[in-house]
Amino acid sequence: MVRDEELIGECPQCRAPGLCCRFNRFQKDDLQILSWEHRCNDCGHRETKAYRSDEPDTAGDLVDQEVCPYCSRHARPDTLR
Ligand SMILES: [Zn+2]
Ligand SMILES: [Zn+2]
Repeated sequence: MVRDEELIGECPQCRAPGLCCRFNRFQKDDLQILSWEHRCNDCGHRETKAYRSDEPDTAGDLVDQEVCPYCSRHARPDTLR
């Protein structure tokens, strides 16, 4: 499990400046799961989006899975190796 976490600013729900953008990459044999999570440490607001390599429907060719769907931040290169 690789983890890439960054404090990105204001929570859309409570306006506290503690919103965290987290990218996880999980690889097991042929299965790869990339997931994005926005989470507020203050109010618990949470949004997640996961891309599984065994579920092409949720992946979609047009989506850049290495870019956060919420804040457009790109995953750090060292987390993708
Ligand atoms: Zn919040
Ligand atoms: Zn983000």
